[in-house]
Amino acid sequence: MSQENPLLQEFNTAPFSKIKTEHYKPAIEEAIKIARKEIEEITSTEEKPSFSNTIEALEYSGEKLGRVAGIFFNINSAETNDEIQKIAQEVSPWLSEFNNDLLLNEALFKRVKHVFDERENLDLTEEQKTLLNKHYKAFSRNGANLSEDKKKELRKIDLELSKLSLTFGENVLAETNRYELHVTDKNELDGLPESELENAEELAKKKGKEGYIFTLHFPSYIPFMKYVKNRELRKKLAIAFGAKAFQDDKYDNQENVLKITKLRHQRSNLLGFKTHAHFVLEERMAKSPEKVNEFLEEMLEKAKPAADKEFQELENFAKELDGIDRLEKWDSAYYSEKLKQKLFQLDDEQLKPYFKLENVIHGVFLIAKKLYGIHFKEVATVDKYHEEVRTYEIFDENGEYLALFYADFHPREGKRNGAWMTIYKEQEVKDGKNERPHISNVCNFTRPTSKKPSLLTFNEVTTLFHEFGHALHGILANSTYSSLSGPSVYWDFVELPSQLLENWCYEKEALELFARHYETDEVIPMELIEKIKKSANFQEGLQTVRQLSFGMLDMAWHATDPSSIKNVKEHESKAFEATRLFPDVPENCMSTSFGHIFQGGYSAGYYSYKWAEVLDADAFAYFKEKGIFNEEVATKFKDNVLSKGGTEDPMILYKRFRGKEPNPEALLKRAGLMTE
Ligand SMILES: [Zn+2]
Repeated sequence: MSQENPLLQEFNTAPFSKIKTEHYKPAIEEAIKIARKEIEEITSTEEKPSFSNTIEALEYSGEKLGRVAGIFFNINSAETNDEIQKIAQEVSPWLSEFNNDLLLNEALFKRVKHVFDERENLDLTEEQKTLLNKHYKAFSRNGANLSEDKKKELRKIDLELSKLSLTFGENVLAETNRYELHVTDKNELDGLPESELENAEELAKKKGKEGYIFTLHFPSYIPFMKYVKNRELRKKLAIAFGAKAFQDDKYDNQENVLKITKLRHQRSNLLGFKTHAHFVLEERMAKSPEKVNEFLEEMLEKAKPAADKEFQELENFAKELDGIDRLEKWDSAYYSEKLKQKLFQLDDEQLKPYFKLENVIHGVFLIAKKLYGIHFKEVATVDKYHEEVRTYEIFDENGEYLALFYADFHPREGKRNGAWMTIYKEQEVKDGKNERPHISNVCNFTRPTSKKPSLLTFNEVTTLFHEFGHALHGILANSTYSSLSGPSVYWDFVELPSQLLENWCYEKEALELFARHYETDEVIPMELIEKIKKSANFQEGLQTVRQLSFGMLDMAWHATDPSSIKNVKEHESKAFEATRLFPDVPENCMSTSFGHIFQGGYSAGYYSYKWAEVLDADAFAYFKEKGIFNEEVATKFKDNVLSKGGTEDPMILYKRFRGKEPNPEALLKRAGLMTE
């Protein structure tokens, strides 16, 4: 079998055209076997543990598995079908079992620890020190240093936690699914756009009912809150939305929240940390809960006055329009939308003609060339997984080959929603050779028709720049080890290159390069650019305070000892005190459906959304100061951030680029929350 399986042969670019669905499972199975054997070779050697025979050997192990599984899961996102999804269900447990066995391998840990304990006496480069630390921490943070009893305790907690977060999510989903708002009189839905009415009507039909049905799923909920004039109905739906898993019945999550936070706390104590947040933040740029709290409070201090003012404006507007005295949560989206329309009269259709997909691609390539001296050559000879995928070879200013780039722009049935950057082959220096990476951007942009080219909304334009910013992190990567290469950085640092590049979408000097009308070739008018900028800052104070409130709630659960917390709603209300603008709704609780932190991986990490914005605004302020195409600044960013990946601590890398720590002022100014 392995003789014919293209995934098990040697290859450089992924051999898409030769891969058949039935190749994946045996290839992954075989690659796991190979990886296990490589680990066994490390542990069975008679030689004394050294950096090279243990840490590097571990780093290089599992390479085949990485590439095969990488291709498989990338395809499962970009071009999947029932069969591939079924395989994913089957192979995922194999991969987690392999990973668990690796981290619980005591003989392996003993060798890693030996090298780690000797680290001061070894002549290691900064990157090698980081690599050693990373591999050692992977074991120690998983309990490798604990006694047998404590290890057992940790496994028990982990098992319980994984069950609890699953239950938490299931409850939220069940609560989301069981509610419906049934409206029979169309007049009660005044304000709702025709297309939304049609959706609601269709849903009612599907359920065998007359009239219209609305649910708590976002595509139904959001337009309802934004457009429906009827205040009582908005109130009803909003309260239902906020009461998810907070109704004292079998789907209630209050006990689960308390259990999860207590178990996380216990787990962190077992591993020698004061709280769960201390544990999580050890591997983040922010480093400590104190730093995160300080950051959130500083941002709040600056944003709160603007939020208060915007709240007052919104309340006055609602009063003027409909005689509303006290603005409630269910009024926010409705009046904000109306106010925004009044102030800006900006819609996508006005902008789209200036953003033909080909022009935007040309633009982002040109900007990358001006900044980093790289150029792109479209090539037709590279094997690809779908005919729509475009492939480019990228070269530096001296004509040296840098990377292969796949671009896959339009929606298809087998593609999941959203936009992302992914890697088919990682950059590394091995046996003296710099192996260059294969990077991919996958998006879901409007498809061209026989009459019209693909015209992007402004949001799609910034998305393309965002994902291409991630791609640059990969393209320009220049590390020795692949696990420290390109975007393999701390979680609160990874959005810097992507968000930074978005800034060029708002600059005249950059837009003039590519934002031309697809029929008349006219450059986008300056008034439109100004409008885009202003509307991007609409209600920035309110939005900032809202984000901060979520970050603060997250820290309130994870940066303290939760054993004394008895009442979820009470604890939450206290955490929200400093950020509260709208009156509290007693029937509602956010924590019981806060999936980001109780189900997903964002616990003690919600702050990183704002943190990343501070970084990108501060970095861009440097460009603005010297010129958005300034060679010196661009080279500094390339040399100290983009090419360095995770080889050193991000704060050190950032300071080398910027000359100082990031300062939130740039973000506050850009957001209009602070004057120059
Ligand atoms: Zn991103």
